[in-house]
Parts: sequence; C-alpha cells; structure tokens
Amino acid sequence: MDIAVIGAGASGMMAALQAAWNGAPVTLLERNEQVGRKLLVTGSGRCNITNRAAAAEKYACADPGWMRTLLDCFGVDDLLAMLAEIGVPVHCTDDGWYYPLSNSAHTVVEAFASAMQRAGVTLITGAKVTSLRPGKAGFHVRISRPDGDQTLSFTQVIVSAGGAAYPSLGSRGELFPALEKLGHTVLPSRPALAPLLVNLGSLRALQGVRLDAGVTLWDGSRRLGSTVGNLIFTEWGLNGPAVMDLSHLVSAHGGPGLELSLNLLARVQAEYDRLLSAKRSSDLPLKVFLGAFFPPKVSAHYLRMVRLPDHLPLRDLGGGDLKRLTALLTDTRLPVKGTREFEYCQVSAGGVPVTEVDPRTLQSLRVEGLFLTGETLDVVGPCGGYNLQYAFSSGALAGRAAAKV
Ligand SMILES: Cc1cc2nc3c(=O)[nH]c(=O)nc-3n(C[C@H](O)[C@H](O)[C@H](O)COP(=O)(O)OP(=O)(O)OC[C@H]3O[C@@H](n4cnc5c(N)ncnc54)[C@H](O)[C@@H]3O)c2cc1C
Repeated sequence: MDIAVIGAGASGMMAALQAAWNGAPVTLLERNEQVGRKLLVTGSGRCNITNRAAAAEKYACADPGWMRTLLDCFGVDDLLAMLAEIGVPVHCTDDGWYYPLSNSAHTVVEAFASAMQRAGVTLITGAKVTSLRPGKAGFHVRISRPDGDQTLSFTQVIVSAGGAAYPSLGSRGELFPALEKLGHTVLPSRPALAPLLVNLGSLRALQGVRLDAGVTLWDGSRRLGSTVGNLIFTEWGLNGPAVMDLSHLVSAHGGPGLELSLNLLARVQAEYDRLLSAKRSSDLPLKVFLGAFFPPKVSAHYLRMVRLPDHLPLRDLGGGDLKRLTALLTDTRLPVKGTREFEYCQVSAGGVPVTEVDPRTLQSLRVEGLFLTGETLDVVGPCGGYNLQYAFSSGALAGRAAAKV
C-alpha cells in the first residue's frame, strides 16, 4: 500500500509523518523547492501554533459537530505532545496563544523535516501535481518537474494542497477542479482572515494607530458577527485580528449594505465609567480624561468629531454632549467596501464542504482511498493559532487512517 501526500504544508507534513510512523510507505509531493514555506511566515515568523481555547464553536464550517469530533480525536493536548516528541517545546501567552519556545517558525519546520526523514518519508520537492485520476487500484498522480513530467501510482492519496490564500507560497487552489471531477462539491474560494477595505471618512486621519476595540459587522439591520481585538488604521481601511476574524463574513455577503460598528470602549468600559463618575464634577480636562484610555491622536480626533474643546473641564461638559461623545466612542459606523485580495489573506474560505469527509479519518465519503486535509476543506478559524491546530489535527488523523486502511 503506497500513500501519496500532496502538499508539504502544515497538514501535509503532519499527514506524511503520521502515516510513516504507522508503517506505511509514504511519498510527499511538494511544488516548492522546500517544505513548509507558509509555516515559516506564520505568526510573523514566530508560528502561533495553537490556542488554549481551540474548540468547535470557534470555527466556521458547515457542521460544528464535525469539528467537535475532529478535535476530540486529535486536539490541543495531542498536538502539544506530538510536537514535544519531535523536538518542539512550546510556551503559552497569558491570552492562551501557543508558540514554539524558540519563538521561531524555523524550529517547527526543521523538526518536521527531520522527523519525516528519520521516519522514511520519500520527499519529492519541485514537483507540481497537475492531475489526479482514479486508476484500477488507486490513483494516478501526474507531476510536473523541471526535468519533465511523470505519472506515479498510489493506492491512497491525501490531498493537503491548501486553499487559495497567499498564492506566492504555493497554494493556489489548482487541485480543486480535479477534486470536482472525482465527485466532490467545491465551493468557490473566498478571502478569509483578510484586512478590510473600509471607507474611513475622517478616521483616515488615524492612519498608523493601533488599539483594541469591539467590532460588529452589520448587513443593514442584521448583525453578522462581532469580535473584540486589536485593530490598525491603514490608508485603505482596517487591519488586525478584530477585523480579519470578520472578513469571511464580508466575502460571503458582500453588497453595499455592509457596515462596521467600532466600539472603542469595549475593553475599558468599566474603567471609563468609574473614572467618569469619580471626576464628573472636577476640573479634569476632557483631553486628559480620554487620554487615560486612548492614544493622543484618537482622543483629539474624537473630540474634534463631536466639536468639543480639548481643555473643557469635565464639570462643564453638558449631559447631551457627554451622551454624544459616549455614543460615538461606542458606535462609530463605517461602510465596508470588501476585503483585500488573496495575496493579503491568511486563509481562504471555500473548497470541499466538511460534510463530504469523515471527521475521524478525513477520508472522502465519495471516493475510496482519497483523504482531504487542512485548507482544502471549507473551514475558517479565527486568528490565534486555530487554523494551524485544525490543519495539524486533520493531517494527523488522515495520515494515521490512510496507513491503517
Ligand atoms: C502570513 C500568514 C500568517 C499566518 N499565521 C498563522 C498563525 O500564526 N497561526 C495559525 O494558526 N495560522 C496562521 N496562518 C494560516 C495557516 O498558515 C494555514 O491555515 C495553514 O498553513 C494551512 O495548512 P495547509 O496544510 O492546509 O495548507 P498550506 O500550508 O497552504 O500547504 C499546502 C502545500 O501544498 C503545496 N501545493 C499546493 N498545490 C500543489 C500542487 N498542485 N502540487 C504540489 N504541491 C502543491 C503548497 O506549495 C503548500 O506547500 C497564517 C497564514 C499566512 C498566509
């Protein structure tokens, strides 16, 4: 029984390693000259590998029950134990984000490459898979290499070729037509974990400012989703986890009715109320009061928006003006124009719906001997290590199962 794994990203390397550990002959095919190129840029080169809070409800996919089963079969503790085994100890930040102890994605890629070599995985790099067809007892996989094309045969194939995000690192959704031909549904790829193109209006003046905020996405009067997190004002809109975590909803809904509501008090509302009530009848200038919570550029801009003087003492602030200021701080509305392109996305939505594979084995329910992992399936997790956890979990289960068939 020969297994081919297509794609040496997070899920493919995990699949190849687990299959080899379980005694199967494994060939890993990768179009790039090196393995794990995308892994190297994750977490800004630090590789945010998983999250203490990884659970089914965090992911957008067709069936939360499917994700629950997958994470029950291979969850955070399983991943951490496996990483420790191949030489990747980790540390966890106060907010639950895991990184390798070295804070370097190189540690992770090198540990996988070394473990695969020791486990006997045959690695063929510079090999782009151009077609995947069923054969008499398995599959024919056509690869294109600088020295010519070749067709290889395998009894089982694990497709770990990613989605369409960040195409310069190798994943371009090119195997989706082959999966469609084999009988799978393929939903169109859409940007996810992407910066948002937003009409900032006067908030354009805040370019370069980074702060924590609550963000709600509205489609007319329908609330599509809410997040709280870091936000960065840019020349074309907004970046940072708080908006990236909503971007799959923007690319799914589109249209002119989409609007963001920013709540700058989301993380500090209690302190804001406390300081306000303590100093309401004092001579504390408004600028100093707001300066307790926001960078000076933000306080000055919001005071300009409500036309209140910087130095106005809190005791002289009228009730109506206070209401207007607080309303603006908690609900600034901004029209959304769309997401940035795949080049700027961390993942893509779309691909094969999870309901077409078994969550315990990642085996296709439509094609015997075919397994699908990682971003090839229609799954989106938020920023914070959730997408790598899912990629590794799906790869591990597919590799083990393919070796045991
Ligand atoms: C800038 C950036 C930062 C990120 N940071 C984080 C983070 O800190 N934490 C987190 O959880 N997630 C992060 N992500 C998301 C995470 O990287 C992905 O969820 C994960 O890599 C998906 O793994 P995968 O194995 O499904 O696909 P990929 O990692 O994309 O791997 C697919 C592999 O298949 C190869 N391939 C594709 N087509 C073919 C073909 N036809 N023939 C041969 N080979 C092929 C590709 O070259 C690639 O190596 C980040 C993504 C980006 C772009």
